[in-house]
Amino acid sequence: MTLAEDNSGTLYIVATPIGNLGDISQRAIDTLRAVDVIACEDTRHSKKLLSAFSISGKTISLHDHNERQKQEYIGSLLASGSDVALVSDAGTPLISDPGFHLVRYCRQQGLNVSPVPGACAAISALSVAGLPTDRFAFEGFLPAKTGARQAILQGLANETRTMVFYDAPRRAIDTVQDIVTVLGESRYLVIARELTKTFETIYSNTAGEMLNWLSQDANQLKGEMVLIIEGAPEKISEITPEVERALKRLLKELPPKKACAVTADLYEVNKKALYDLTLSYK
Ligand code: SAM
Repeated sequence: MTLAEDNSGTLYIVATPIGNLGDISQRAIDTLRAVDVIACEDTRHSKKLLSAFSISGKTISLHDHNERQKQEYIGSLLASGSDVALVSDAGTPLISDPGFHLVRYCRQQGLNVSPVPGACAAISALSVAGLPTDRFAFEGFLPAKTGARQAILQGLANETRTMVFYDAPRRAIDTVQDIVTVLGESRYLVIARELTKTFETIYSNTAGEMLNWLSQDANQLKGEMVLIIEGAPEKISEITPEVERALKRLLKELPPKKACAVTADLYEVNKKALYDLTLSYK
């Protein structure tokens, strides 16, 4: 990859509010005012936001269906020195929104790409969920059909990290029913709905109780939501004499980390517990 010439422009990836216009940053406004072209997921939608901040720049459309055709054109604008901003309908572009192909293309061409950070529904929901955030898995949109949705949930049954999904509230009852079926009714969930808007609701409970709550209040099935699922408990199976024999044997052939990983995998025991045990051998 060659680096862009100094006189080439920059592609700014600009986050916009997820509901509350007050969440736009001053730098987002300044950037959108300054660039030569604003690439929008939906130009009509973004023009409302732009006019609210008296931004009148040239807009072009860049959505899932034309992104690959537009990337060379935008690349040529950048190469000729123009600055371009990318915005999506709400939140951070590329996060379950268009922009990945364009950013990859620009980076491959050595063109400048720079973030103007701001709102993101997944991160906003995570910040108020009260579930572990030191590690988490963002899983994007859950499928609309129950078979596909259950398959995804089944694949995540042993995921120990907090899991973050986008989903439509109108499907919330079906989704939570699938969670009860696949992950059990005691798995803890958080629904963060209409974040930053008038009817913002953040509700957490077990999947079983969540199902009751949703069934009793049709208002909870409106708007936009992020669904967060607590991670599965870490497996801490017993380190039996057989497991320890296998570990000691592997330690003769492999570095400690690798020996612990292989033993953990074979016997479904906690890798860290094995590693702590190896430390006691020294
Ligand atoms: N790029 C956006 C972001 O940074 O969050 C996400 C775009 S994705 C097409 C839209 C989904 O994000 C919605 O279906 C919903 O799951 C979630 N979402 C967006 N705004 C939200 C809000 N104000 N409250 C809750 N969820 C929201």
